Order: sequence, then structure tokens, then C-alpha cells
Amino acid sequence: MTTSKTRDEMPMARQPHPVSAGPIVQLPTAFGDFVAQAWTDLATGAEHLAVSSPLPVVGVAPLVRLHSECLTGDVFGSYRCDCGEQLAYALEMINEFGGTLLYLRGQEGRGIGLANKMKAYALQEAGFDTVEANEQLGLPVDARCYKAAAQILAEMGLHEIRLLSNNPDKQDRLAQAGVKVVEMVPTEVPSREQNIRYLQTKKDRMDHRLVLDVEPAPAAGMAGFEHDQD
Ligand SMILES: [Zn+2]
Repeated sequence: MTTSKTRDEMPMARQPHPVSAGPIVQLPTAFGDFVAQAWTDLATGAEHLAVSSPLPVVGVAPLVRLHSECLTGDVFGSYRCDCGEQLAYALEMINEFGGTLLYLRGQEGRGIGLANKMKAYALQEAGFDTVEANEQLGLPVDARCYKAAAQILAEMGLHEIRLLSNNPDKQDRLAQAGVKVVEMVPTEVPSREQNIRYLQTKKDRMDHRLVLDVEPAPAAGMAGFEHDQD
């Protein structure tokens, strides 16, 4: 018998998800030359990608961006959200100052999935905000889990990081999982007519640290568009 705590005795929130790593490969991109490594969450089967600058880190700790997959924003450049621009900004920052972007798959629409995100869009076009739309669908406002992300960061040796995010909830959740955020580095990208209501909701209802320079547009037409990320 041992007196040390076993994994089963740890509070659920502190139990890491086991992860497994693949090989590190070169990834030349439009944003610079990176290295990439796939990580599999063995609890869920989700496959994530770590994209890192091979250059030495500038500053007290490496920049880390936990980027939740957003097909519409990341691939199609949708202006309903700011994900695509945040992804580009983070890659530019990491290329310049060193660090890692962890691309978290299976987190579409703050974890509700692509099809549900589209349903939420439809409700938003009917006048609900991004939080209310999820509630109307009976879905959590944020279903994302960062246990695998924290475990990947730990296994990459990234125990103290500068987090590229406006979302204080991410900082709290990483701290619970044992990753220390020594600084929050804001990732504000320009607000647009099409996403201002979404960004305003993130600021007002989800405690995001945003300085918005446009007055919220009336909830009609394109200005009523909103969505769910970061
Ligand atoms: Zn998005």
C-alpha cells in the first residue's frame, strides 16, 4: 500500500488526458518556417497539431496560442468571427518571438461541433446573441476541455507560458491543469461590421478583454451575424 494519491483519487478537474506524440516535421508556411507535431488525445481520439517556431524564444517565456478549430473562420476566412485573423496574428507573433500554436481540433463552435454551430448561426440571424443561441439549443456556452492541451504543453516542456488570448477562462483552466500563465498577451484583431456584435457579446457576457472601437451595430442584416469561438 502506498500513501501517495493515485490518479483515481485526484479531483476530476486535475486529471490529465493521456496524449501521444508523433514525429516532429518541417512545416514551411506563408507565415514563416515552423515545425509541426501531431498529438493524439487518447481519452477522446481527437488529433491536435502543435506548430512551433524553431528559433530561440524572445522574452521571459514562450508565446503559446491555444487555437480552437473553426472551419468557417480558419479555412474560409469568415468575418462572422475573428478566428481566422487571430490564427494569422498568432502565427505571425510566434514566427517573430518564438513559441507554439496548439491547434485544437474537435473544438468547433466552442466545442458544440460544426452542425450545431450552423444551427446557432441561424438563431443568431433570428436575433439571439452567441450565448443565448447555445442556450436555445440546450448546449453549453463553452464545452471545450483543455486537459489534453495542458498535457501536451507539459510534455513539450512548456510549463510557464505567455498566453496569446483575450480569454481569462483559458488562463484559469490551464492553471487548474498545472500550466502557469506568466502573462496574457492580447490578440485583438480589427472589429468589423459583421463581427462587432459577436465581439461585444464576448466582451460583455464572457469576460473577454477586448477594446472595441466601433459602436455595436443594430441586430439586422450582416450586423446581426455572430458566432462562437475563443
Ligand atoms: Zn470562428
